[in-house]
Amino acid sequence: MTCPRCQKPVVSAGELTTDGKTLAVYQCDDCTTSWELGGKSFKAALTFAVDAQGRFIDPDTLAPIASLN
Ligand SMILES: [Zn+2]
Repeated sequence: MTCPRCQKPVVSAGELTTDGKTLAVYQCDDCTTSWELGGKSFKAALTFAVDAQGRFIDPDTLAPIASLN
């Protein structure tokens, strides 16, 4: 697996189970995502999983990540 954003190789960081299927979760330490909470900005390494349709999804919300697909 390569990171869909920077194309570097990424390793599996775990897995999640949804609809009875197990999906691998990947993390890219070279890419970060940021979000705001309570007026503060947070950053974390980019994590994503690949669903049965081959889309990159957010492991927390299971929603496709628009910026990666
Ligand atoms: Zn990356």
